Formats: sequence, C-alpha cells, structure tokens
Amino acid sequence: MIGAPTDIGAKHRGSAMGPEAIRVAGAEGTLRRLGLEVEDWGNVSGPANPDAPPIGGYRHLKETVAWCEAARDAVYKALRAGVFPILMGGDHALAIGSVAAIARYCAELDTPFSVLWLDAHADFNTPQTSPSGNIHGMPVAIIAGQGPPQLTDIGSDKPMIEAARIIQLGIRSVDAVEKGNVVDSKLEVYDMRQIDEIGMLETMQRVLSRVREVGGHLHVSFDVDFLDPTIAPGVGTTVAGGPTYREAQLCMEMIYDSGLMASLDLMELNPAFDDKNRTAELIVDLLGSLFGEQILSRHELGR
Ligand code: MG
Ligand code: MG
Repeated sequence: MIGAPTDIGAKHRGSAMGPEAIRVAGAEGTLRRLGLEVEDWGNVSGPANPDAPPIGGYRHLKETVAWCEAARDAVYKALRAGVFPILMGGDHALAIGSVAAIARYCAELDTPFSVLWLDAHADFNTPQTSPSGNIHGMPVAIIAGQGPPQLTDIGSDKPMIEAARIIQLGIRSVDAVEKGNVVDSKLEVYDMRQIDEIGMLETMQRVLSRVREVGGHLHVSFDVDFLDPTIAPGVGTTVAGGPTYREAQLCMEMIYDSGLMASLDLMELNPAFDDKNRTAELIVDLLGSLFGEQILSRHELGR
C-alpha cells in the first residue's frame, strides 16, 4: 500500500485526505483476513497545492509532475520488489505516475500490459476541451501520449500505452469535443448504456476477454466516481447513473476470478464530501472483493 495524499490535479480540494480514510476504513486488516501479507509503505510526498489558476492550459503542471514522479518511483520500486502495488490517491492525475511505472516495468520484462479504467469520465481532456485545466480530467489522454511533454514523457516510452489497450468501464460523462477524441483514439469503451443493455456479467466477460487477448500485466485504475453517487458520495465529481452496489461487487469479483490484475489505483476518494467515511468503507469492501473475498466460493457451491 502506497499513499499519495494530494489533490493537485483536482477541481475540488480534499482527495489529499483519501489515503488516510482508506486506512481508517480498515484496508490493511481486510487484506490480511484474506491471508495476504500486507506492507504499508506510508505516503509519498510532494509540493503543496498552491490553488493557482491554469498556465498555458494546465493547472499546477509543475506540482503534478513532481507528484506523478513520486508515485511512479514508489510503484516501480514495488513492482521490482515483486510485490503488488496499491496506490491510494489522491486525485486521478496520479495514475499517470503508476502507469509510467508499469510501462517501464513491462518494457524491461518485454511483456504487454493493459489498463482497465473504472470511471464515470473518459479522462481524455486536453486544454482545448477543458477550460479549467484540471489535470485529473486528462490522465488517459496523457498516458496515451497526448498532453504536455513534462507528463507524457515521465515513462520510459511515449506513449506509455497504446490507446487501444486502455479499456474504459462505467463511462457516462464525456464532453462534446472530448467525445470526438475518444472515438478517434480507439480507446475500448464500455459505457453505462452497454452495462444497461447487456448487464455487468456479459460486459465484464467482454472486458476480460479483451485483457486476455492483450496478455501480460493488467493495471486497474479505479476512480471512486465510477460508482453510483447514492452508494459513494465521497468524491468531488459525482455523476448519476453509475453501477449499483451489486454491479460493482460483481465487477470486482470477476476481476479477481480472472487472476489477471497485477496492480491497482484507488483514486479520488474525497473525505470532505463523504458521510462518516461510508464511501471509504465501501472502497475497502470492494478492495476485499478484488482480492478474493466472496460470499461463498464458487468452488464450495459446486459452480
Ligand atoms: Mg471520474
Ligand atoms: Mg478519473
């Protein structure tokens, strides 16, 4: 477990408190109860949030680079040590750091990788589509090679990953111009309409079969706003109409069952918007499912 306590790339302040809230909700104990060995490496550090306006289309670019590099170095250290990194944000810009680490690690092993992006948003903005310049709306574009070189170049290769190997799930808020970019970039998108039409079960079967096709390492980048705000109010950018509690659990259980996940981001939990830490507790509950907690095992039930 690695904490990255910053809201440097976000619209609303408060996700800097996310790592501590996840700890308070019992993440370490939940993983230990599943028989896992857990090490909490504490928090990486970086510059304070200056709350400054955007410069050249990006807000807090210099500070975001410093935080992403710190996250990258910690995640890379974990991967090299042969342990499974869980990066706790912090805002979603930090995923640029974890994906940079994974890209470098996988390049060294000459193994492919894919990213499963769980989010209400496509996070594919550019300064042209995001007047606010908040970088947490841009990480998918940046890891796919579109954005300021200070960030697109923090991995060993550019792009860090081809857009076609980024799979987005739960999307339900995409700006008009961003839409065109998402389509042109050939991201693999499973939006809420698809989940409505074919259900989470079949959607996840398709997602995981795509991940198997790519092979290698699967990185899961989980933005709390993926979840429906009625169950997860503790995030600064809620969008109505997300996965329900059961849909989210099924999604996590199926990721676990696939045995494919090799690294994880838990992003955008914002205790300033939460209600008595209930969103953090839900995240820890879902974390348990991602690591094998089940009502009864399918094996025990003979399925
Ligand atoms: Mg989001
Ligand atoms: Mg996001």
